Amino acid sequence: HNAKEHGVEIRRYMPAMQMKAKERFKLENDLRRALERDEFYLVYQPQVLLETEEIVGMEALLRWNHPKRGLVSPAEFIPIAEASGLIVPIGEWVLKMACLQNKQWQLAGYEPISVSINLSMRQFLQPNLAGTIGDILHNLDLDPCYVDLEITESMTLDKETAFEQLKRLKELGVFISIDDFGTGYSSLHYLKDMPIDRLKIDRSFVSEVMEDSNNAAIVSTITSMAHHLKLKVTAEGVENKEQLEFLRQQHCHEAQGFLFSKPIEAAEFERSFLRKAMQKLPS
Ligand code: C2E
Ligand code: MG
Ligand code: MG
Ligand code: MG
Repeated sequence: HNAKEHGVEIRRYMPAMQMKAKERFKLENDLRRALERDEFYLVYQPQVLLETEEIVGMEALLRWNHPKRGLVSPAEFIPIAEASGLIVPIGEWVLKMACLQNKQWQLAGYEPISVSINLSMRQFLQPNLAGTIGDILHNLDLDPCYVDLEITESMTLDKETAFEQLKRLKELGVFISIDDFGTGYSSLHYLKDMPIDRLKIDRSFVSEVMEDSNNAAIVSTITSMAHHLKLKVTAEGVENKEQLEFLRQQHCHEAQGFLFSKPIEAAEFERSFLRKAMQKLPS
């Protein structure tokens, strides 16, 4: 490439890059108003106990219904919310709504299940996170054993800070899971000391577990390690019976994925997956 050709390339690519920054800026502005305009809602995906095939939990996943664009994927807007700091109020809304939904279903007499809520890095680094969550649990009178917080490996990089924060969260009585396990930056070192309860095996390993023997080895090793460390283990992204059977053979505790259901809105989740708790007989 000579300088002239290079110049042409730059002129060709610059507008596209500026567009991208402009788009991002626009989305960020729209995101700023999305909470007050009530454009967010939660969908729920069931978590199945493999031993009994019972629904024992649900993961709350955020959806943004943009007035002009329609549904925007979390993969697109979460990073923007994270970079701008908007994830803190948005994340608090998610925590409140997911806990409220869970409590309402308990009050309606359904068999209680747990709700898993994704935390972002920024949220996790908020010094008052445990206070915020404690207030939500207290105001709703929701038993913390029905709340599971999902963090990722990269959030535990600053070991000291992560340890302190996790300790405060565990003192509330909630469950802590490591999401997308196996894809982040972490050493096994921290698994030993961090007060966590569960590993969620990343979808990328589960999805090709039947085709790729390396993936099978990884899933089997994570599952076995979890057992040895007395952690629960959940497989995400289970799409077919063969994968499910493999996970059963490995004694994986729980599974989540399109095989059971895509994430769905609350009303549909209630109809499809919730069961009334047994009435206590008068003694
Ligand atoms: P994640 O927490 O790992 O959530 C699982 C994602 O995998 C969800 O995508 C879910 O729809 C998808 N999934 C579940 N089962 C299957 C399957 O069998 N096959 C395939 N192909 N996909 C499956 P979603 O809802 O688009 O969310 C993407 C990511 O966005 C989440 O990954 C999470 O990191 C983030 N996210 C979503 N909601 C929130 C939130 O409220 N707060 C934060 N901080 N992040 C969120
Ligand atoms: Mg998750
Ligand atoms: Mg995940
Ligand atoms: Mg994932």
